[in-house]
Amino acid sequence: MDDLWFDPSQTFIAGAWHPAPATLPLIDPSDGTEICQIARGGRAEIDAAVTAAEDALSGPWGDMPAFERGRILNRIGALVMERVELLARIEARDVGKPLTQARADAIALARYMEFYAGAADKLHGETIPFLAGYTVYTLREPHGVTGHIIPWNYPMQIIGRSVGAALATGNACVLKPAEEACLTALAFADIAREAGLPPGALNVVPGLGAEAGAALTAHPGVHHVSFTGSVGTGKLVQSAAADNTIPVTLELGGKSPQLVFEDADVDAALPFLVNAGIQNAGQTCSAASRILVHRSRLAEVTDRMADRYAALRVGPAMADLNVGPLISARQKEIVEGFLAKADGLEMVRGQIVADAPAGGAYVAPALISGATPDHTLAQDEIFGPVQVILPFDDDAEAVRIANGTAYGLVAGVWTRDAGRQMRMVRRLRAGQVFLNNYGAAGGVELPFGGVGASGHGREKGFEAMYGFTTLKTVAALHG
Ligand code: NAD
Repeated sequence: MDDLWFDPSQTFIAGAWHPAPATLPLIDPSDGTEICQIARGGRAEIDAAVTAAEDALSGPWGDMPAFERGRILNRIGALVMERVELLARIEARDVGKPLTQARADAIALARYMEFYAGAADKLHGETIPFLAGYTVYTLREPHGVTGHIIPWNYPMQIIGRSVGAALATGNACVLKPAEEACLTALAFADIAREAGLPPGALNVVPGLGAEAGAALTAHPGVHHVSFTGSVGTGKLVQSAAADNTIPVTLELGGKSPQLVFEDADVDAALPFLVNAGIQNAGQTCSAASRILVHRSRLAEVTDRMADRYAALRVGPAMADLNVGPLISARQKEIVEGFLAKADGLEMVRGQIVADAPAGGAYVAPALISGATPDHTLAQDEIFGPVQVILPFDDDAEAVRIANGTAYGLVAGVWTRDAGRQMRMVRRLRAGQVFLNNYGAAGGVELPFGGVGASGHGREKGFEAMYGFTTLKTVAALHG
């Protein structure tokens, strides 16, 4: 691949590139061909990366004042902005996402760097009034070595929010990107090196989850793990962390609803309703895979969404259409398996363009109506371009359906009634509620995370600065 200025078959440890003992093929989801070979890191590479991180903490990185860490993050952000088009092309190829969406991810990565650059020297402890003769204060300190395990769907955004906050707070990171898409993680490491990040402050070891990922979560030298991925893997990560009694942040899946009430501004809602289902081909943790509509507006919303679905065009990432391929042939199989369960339901599909390569993992987006809230399609995270429309008759039923899955990541509420807005905010079980919008343009400033099967802990925004630090209480008796 011409856009790569580094050797993607290597690991990035202690500020330098190292050949790996074995490699894996990286597949282009748009046509099924091999892009390149990537490193298949394992226990030895993870050991070396953790040692490099420990060395960084006992070297210049550990001693660096917070504002200087911020300056480095600012330089990284500036270099990312200079290379937005390059990074977008790499990500589009690797993940299969349309170029416009990959570009937005690259810009978000730069924004995370800018945000955490500014936040680095704003985190502080407090003094606490106590007994006579004592001075008591708290210190916010980095955990030490942080492990970051990320999925393939939004590599740049997730690196930005998790590695950005961890570096701002002075941790040294070991990043294990997903085996299906890891090129921008490697590119980011090299950009960080160029921006002056000291060796060992960020190490990247690509590889398989069961090998490099499991080695990282089980490593006794790791003090905190930030995991983004599936519920099943999240549970494994949490048990491994329990063995080492270390904290974890789990950003897992979702089955998020948007609720359209009888007084909703449907014109305003429509683009948000559809986009939240098809962005990144529906492979988004916060995808609005359930659209709950008051029965009085059901026909109108269903028809208008169906019109938009029928016009959706699906094709290669570089063609930059509405929807790209899924990440892999396997993911396509999973999504088609779900769609096979739509027997007896109504379905409107988008169109795969005629010249889409046969080897690509394309699935035409599907808008489904007629299902009950307990149907598999309305309960399970499909992770594909599939949305289910569900009717409700009153506010109580809307809340019951919305809260009626194992997940609790995001909820969108469309109503002009301010009282109802506030009641919904209180009653919906979700880490974030969006009123008359969905996603708040992905703002890097906004804390993000879930409840229930969607995970725990918060990343993004200033809140992440607390998650990536530990509190030390100091009590001095001086008479
Ligand atoms: P996954 O759990 O299969 O993989 C995620 C990462 O975990 C990969 O890097 C993988 O190599 C690694 N991994 C796999 N097995 C491991 C193990 N035993 N030990 C340690 N690491 C291991 O998830 P996926 O299918 O790649 O990603 C899709 C899931 O991610 C969806 O459920 C989606 O909702 C979720 N997700 C959540 C968020 C969020 O912020 N909540 C964001 C993006 C994706």
